[in-house]
Amino acid sequence: MKYDHILIRYGELALKGRNKRVFLQQLQHHIQHKLRQFKRIKVSQTQGRMFILLNGENPEPVFDICKQIFGISSMSAAIKVENNEDEIKQAALYALQQSKHARTFKVVSRRVNKTFPVGSQALNHMLGGHLLTHTEGFTVDVHDPDVKINVEVREKATYITSDVVYGLGGLPVGSGSRTLLMLSGGIDSPVAGYLAMKRGVAIEAIHFHSPPYTSDRAKQKVLDLVKKLTVYGKTIRVHLVPFTKLQQAIFEEIPDGYTMTVMRRMMMRISEEICIKRGILSITTGESLGQVASQTMESMHAINAVTNLPVIRPLVTMDKSEIIDISEDINTYDISIRPYEDCCTIFTPKSPKTKPKKDRVEHVEHSFDFTPYIEEALEHTEEVKVSDQHTEASEFKDLL
Ligand code: ATP
Ligand code: MG
Repeated sequence: MKYDHILIRYGELALKGRNKRVFLQQLQHHIQHKLRQFKRIKVSQTQGRMFILLNGENPEPVFDICKQIFGISSMSAAIKVENNEDEIKQAALYALQQSKHARTFKVVSRRVNKTFPVGSQALNHMLGGHLLTHTEGFTVDVHDPDVKINVEVREKATYITSDVVYGLGGLPVGSGSRTLLMLSGGIDSPVAGYLAMKRGVAIEAIHFHSPPYTSDRAKQKVLDLVKKLTVYGKTIRVHLVPFTKLQQAIFEEIPDGYTMTVMRRMMMRISEEICIKRGILSITTGESLGQVASQTMESMHAINAVTNLPVIRPLVTMDKSEIIDISEDINTYDISIRPYEDCCTIFTPKSPKTKPKKDRVEHVEHSFDFTPYIEEALEHTEEVKVSDQHTEASEFKDLL
């Protein structure tokens, strides 16, 4: 006997009413895509349940991958047997024996198929007795068991499950349109991208760099961060925008206190252009209120004024420590703290205005026409696709 199925539970998805079918299809496709290396595995939806059919594969590596798929709230390995008492007993025994750390158990039966001759309560007693006589060291605890042996007698078959493995929750990526993630090499923006993806949103990324002031290693760092985000989605398209000339123009033409605000406004304008070109409806940033000078309410107001697109800021009310915790969980932290300069740190003004007035910023900006610089930056923007396939760290060498 062996586990032959994994039962997928999707919590929040169950609430989605009419859209539910579409969401479930997205989830099924995504699971299939992420498990494509296991040739024998199939994903199916039957009678309102989603199952992974293992067809001889081990459940452990499948769990490891599924733990990183948004939309799954929890999973259990399951055994499917015929609606037959002996087979059910054998399977329940196997399931209990697999729960290595459990000492107490409870059998929870559900008879969906009313033609099955044994009722739920009777099945609980019968299986409980069978498990106690055929194992050593286990006792029954109906209030707080270490493991529940769930037995579901359905129309065509009976499913036996035990331990619950928790997933990430959220919504399946792709069910919620796309956003353009403004990705620096810092700690915050990859976390913002991850949280947008958690709500079902697929991402494309935009990164501004300033060669030769920023190095190839800084660019590599950003691509490495994107690679970590692909774990939760599919291939991610990255727009690498050369920002040097525009930044130099800003620093020559704009009074020192406003350069940072103007620079951010230019980044927003270029991001909006890329959104239009790509049919993307929102921009996502890693801004968090009060963190640095550019992230005051006044600053956000002045920067946001250049676009009508929704700007999503998943981290806006989070503390740095909370953001760092997530970045460690998703393995971006160690990449983010690599010490390469980014374009913003190189062109940092001595005394940026922490409360820039929008009208004043617009006034100083109007003294110079930045449009040709924006157009040039867009024209020389390079696109790189980072695949979610497992590859060696050196994969980007050719691109740099
Ligand atoms: P992060 O850790 O994400 O770099 P930060 O705390 O350093 O954030 P800022 O430097 O003020 O904050 O940047 C705010 C946001 O602006 C970033 O989270 C990111 O979304 C965007 N951003 C900053 N620099 C760049 C860049 N070079 N390319 C693309 N987006 C950027
Ligand atoms: Mg930064």
